[in-house]
Amino acid sequence: MTEMRSKPASTVSGGVPDLAPEQLPLPVRPVSPSVEPPLAALLELTHRCPLQCPYCSNPLEMDRVQAELTTEEWCRVISELAMLGALQVHFSGGEPTVRQDLVDLVRHAREVGFYTNLITSGAAITRPRFLALIDAGLDHVQLSFQDAEPNSAVRISHVPNIQEKKLAFAGWVRESGTPLTVNAVIHRQNIDHIDAMIDLAVKLHANRLEVAHVQYYGWALANRAALMPSRAQLEFVTERVMDARERYRGKLVIDYVVPDYYAHQPKACMGGWGRQFLNITPSGKVLPCHAAETIPGMTFPSVREQPLADIWAHAEAFQRFRGTDWMPEPCRGCDQREIDWGGCRCQALAITGDAAAADPACAKSSWHAAMQEIAATASDASSQTDFRYRRMAAAPKH
Ligand code: SF4
Ligand code: SF4
Repeated sequence: MTEMRSKPASTVSGGVPDLAPEQLPLPVRPVSPSVEPPLAALLELTHRCPLQCPYCSNPLEMDRVQAELTTEEWCRVISELAMLGALQVHFSGGEPTVRQDLVDLVRHAREVGFYTNLITSGAAITRPRFLALIDAGLDHVQLSFQDAEPNSAVRISHVPNIQEKKLAFAGWVRESGTPLTVNAVIHRQNIDHIDAMIDLAVKLHANRLEVAHVQYYGWALANRAALMPSRAQLEFVTERVMDARERYRGKLVIDYVVPDYYAHQPKACMGGWGRQFLNITPSGKVLPCHAAETIPGMTFPSVREQPLADIWAHAEAFQRFRGTDWMPEPCRGCDQREIDWGGCRCQALAITGDAAAADPACAKSSWHAAMQEIAATASDASSQTDFRYRRMAAAPKH
């Protein structure tokens, strides 16, 4: 989902410089020595977005603008993250650039020593505002494309002229000298354009291309029958990516991960539950991953009510699937358990009904065949091609 990079050595420090008293975090219980600090945090500043992608990972019930954290609250949270020892913050959404205070938030994150990344559609920002972000210290941009083919991009995003906006934005990023990752989200209805998407990333002088298969949570789960590629399409795109990696070696780094529905071994989702990453929703809920709210019976603490370090170290939501003690068989006795950490809890829930089960992407799971059957059925191109679009107004507030 997001590119994680190391913080520049010159900015690594043991504390937070020159904070105003109101920005200092509240005192917290000490973090247990057995719990490492997070590496990075995904800050979902807002669920507002001018696009309506049918695979959006935001929940079907999105946070309203009135519920969003204020500028002061986000700055306090960013300071708390720095005190906790995190190295990177990823400004995300929705579309983070609809927040009018984004420049202030990036500046604050830089002042407290973070490596800052903007994850954007590029469709809601002007050139002067982008340059203000660069002045504020933005380190990296991750720009998503719905397709390389403009008409298809319009159909998927549901926004006219979307490609022109993205290409203009990519030009500003290039001019500024800021490292650029192009994020190409792949599914059944654009997967045949993979060569054109690779060519687009090369043309835009991207440093990195992330070929990301849709993950089936949130809106994507609601659109699964319209999005799921066939196994033949998967094999085609895998071959094209491997070929491009050779052709552009030393020029473009291409990240590519096989989609879970056709895998035999699960991914280490989020690097393991509560091990390296956390996610903060627009209204301040702290999640171990962006889809964790799909798990029933779990409550997620808010940064409005509890210090972040306390949440990270002690909250039930983070402890529940941290480490390996919670694992049933076949994970409990498996030699991969500290490599993939049992895979994805949300996917285990979605397929098996049990969030503690082994990820059904794993060939050792008793649900593995059922998951492949779901993929085969959903990928039948005749079954559904219409999208159910994500809809939400993008009226700025702050
Ligand atoms: S609608 Fe599209 S661009 Fe907007 S947040 Fe969702 S996936 Fe990203
Ligand atoms: S059994 Fe569990 S730990 Fe082992 S490979 Fe499968 S998901 Fe990973």
